[in-house]
Amino acid sequence: MIENLRKRLREAKNRNDTIVRETSEINVRRFFMIGAIAAPISLGHIVAFWLKDPANATEASWRTGILLAHLALMLVMLGVMVLGHLIRTKWQDKHTLHKVLHIALMAIVFAFGITITAIDQLVLTNVTPFIMASLVAGVAFYTRPRVAIILYSLALIAFAVTMAFVIPDESVRVSNQVNGLTIAGLGLFLSIIVWQGKAGNITQHRMIQKQQDELKRTNEQLDFLATHDVMTGLLNRTAFTARVEEKLKDRRRRGCLIMIDLDHFKRINDSHGHPVGDELLKRLSADLKTLIRQDDLLCRWGGEEFLAYAPNISLNDAVKLADTIRTRIAERTYNVNSEPLTTTISCGVTDVGLGKDGVFHAAYERADKALYRAKDKGRNRVEYDTVQRKTSS
Ligand code: GH3
Ligand code: MG
Ligand code: MG
Repeated sequence: MIENLRKRLREAKNRNDTIVRETSEINVRRFFMIGAIAAPISLGHIVAFWLKDPANATEASWRTGILLAHLALMLVMLGVMVLGHLIRTKWQDKHTLHKVLHIALMAIVFAFGITITAIDQLVLTNVTPFIMASLVAGVAFYTRPRVAIILYSLALIAFAVTMAFVIPDESVRVSNQVNGLTIAGLGLFLSIIVWQGKAGNITQHRMIQKQQDELKRTNEQLDFLATHDVMTGLLNRTAFTARVEEKLKDRRRRGCLIMIDLDHFKRINDSHGHPVGDELLKRLSADLKTLIRQDDLLCRWGGEEFLAYAPNISLNDAVKLADTIRTRIAERTYNVNSEPLTTTISCGVTDVGLGKDGVFHAAYERADKALYRAKDKGRNRVEYDTVQRKTSS
């Protein structure tokens, strides 16, 4: 049970790690955009505070403070834009750096929110900049809840301490500090909702992706099973016929059929058993595959019979090819269950006429007849047939 719990914890951790990695990539990809939006806003503040003359000394200090704070913010945001560009172009794979920068930028947002709120206390009691910072930090980034709780708590402490220093009036101070608690709480709530939405999306997306991959694999397996012979892995009769007929639709294409049948295969079954016969068939199929040319098609026609289609080859060359295959097989010794087995094959070869309906079937019949002739003439030989003439090699 404990092992099971550990496994589930490990899985949850892996899931979380991938979500953190994916979200931190999105966070840093937003750097450029955040900088590009925030820098002009700060510039707007600078211009607005620059233009109007202050009415008194307090207002002058306030305006200067705000102006300097926004000047600093604008420069930082321009820096954030540059960082965003570097992340996109050069630092795409630096995941630890991404995480650090994300937290650093959140801290910067809070720091400016608190500083500007503190400067505002010179002339008004509002806490709008801290509200803005809290909201921006909550929605602009995907932050893991445990990190968000720490950041918002630290921000709240910093805010409360700063207010204690800058607001002499106790009721205003306490009111702002309590408002800060609400603001940080709301920001944190927003941050967690945004995180959960994204984490749910990523998990769902991964599940769909996994199901699609499984479906694709199953379809490929089904497709393979429908078109191949399970024992030898060669094409099956149906798929082979369909593929050859498809090739023959191109009326310029010509080729030859080579029908192969093992000689006295029944004797191998009788003396060594069917499992040995099966293994020999598998090994021989693998050999046949290496002996045909690259573009040739080969299938297990049935039992211990194979049919090959060789495109773009003259009948003469197809007979030579079949004879090479026959010789190679006859030379081989197959060690099955430590028993050295040898076997021979007989082949029937024919050319396939120019693409017309039924040419494949007619050619198959000719190859079959030629094969029977090879058997009649003593086996381990190649016979061929054309529509016009019948000869042997
Ligand atoms: P020949 O072709 O030379 O006339 O003799 P043969 O003994 O090969 O005769 P035939 O082609 O008529 O018989 C085929 C034998 O192949 C019959 C069957 O026992 C065996 N066979 C067919 N399919 C399989 C198979 O999948 N596994 C095994 N072990 N044997 C098979
Ligand atoms: Mg046979
Ligand atoms: Mg047979």
